[in-house]
Amino acid sequence: MHKSPIMQLISSYFISHPSLTQVLLYAGIIVSLWLIEAVVLASSWKDKWKHTLTNMFFILTALPVQLFMTIFLLMVSVWAISHNWGLLFMLPHPNSIFVKYIIGFIVLDFCEYIYHVVMHKVKTLWNFHLVHHSDLDLDVSTTVREHPVETCVRMCFLILWVFLLGASFGVLLLRQTIQTIANITSHTQFKLSPRANNIVSLVFITPNLHHVHHHYELPYTDCNYGDVLSIWDRLFNTYHNGLPKNELLFGLDTHMDKEVNASFIKVLKIPFAKKNA
Ligand SMILES: [Zn+2]
Ligand SMILES: [Zn+2]
Repeated sequence: MHKSPIMQLISSYFISHPSLTQVLLYAGIIVSLWLIEAVVLASSWKDKWKHTLTNMFFILTALPVQLFMTIFLLMVSVWAISHNWGLLFMLPHPNSIFVKYIIGFIVLDFCEYIYHVVMHKVKTLWNFHLVHHSDLDLDVSTTVREHPVETCVRMCFLILWVFLLGASFGVLLLRQTIQTIANITSHTQFKLSPRANNIVSLVFITPNLHHVHHHYELPYTDCNYGDVLSIWDRLFNTYHNGLPKNELLFGLDTHMDKEVNASFIKVLKIPFAKKNA
């Protein structure tokens, strides 16, 4: 039966929101990795928990923005699909699984690379993105450390990409699942062995690569912008193979204040501080 665009929108809103299985999957991965990190690597459970608590507050600010803007994201997707609009529809066999899902996913990942570069290169946007980089102890909880203004900017960009490409709910859902798992694992304190990293990083962003992106000083901060795939960094010469653990220092040379970085409220205010203007 043919569904009206409004019905499609309503059903896709529910489809695209994490189902119980998805939430359990994400929560399961985060909690398991966090516990393993705590058992294997943490010198103090209390310090690790304090650090995690600061980052967990960002879930509370991101969630309303994310949920509200998803409505617009789906409206744009419904409109594009019902009008056969977007770059993906210019390809041969636009409704094939290959174009819709595989090409759609790869192009969306490239868009995410562009977004990340823009967040670093445009000063006003960098002031918000640096909140993610300001974490002095990178662990799995850093995944959710994102200023709510960045959440809004990220969603605006995503809506733009969906409009330009004509991306369907299906590929958005696929992207959301793979991207979330990739983001969680790339922030974990565990690294791959150099040999395994050399193989996996041929195509994917590994923790080893993303750790370099969180190193406190340039040019490392401007390396490894990739989200799921590392091919864009290799293509545009922003790739770095990884730094030895003893050379890595997380944070930003401009924002190394421990007390500020450990306070949710103070971190929220960083982008509005005078020295950033
Ligand atoms: Zn970054
Ligand atoms: Zn990160």
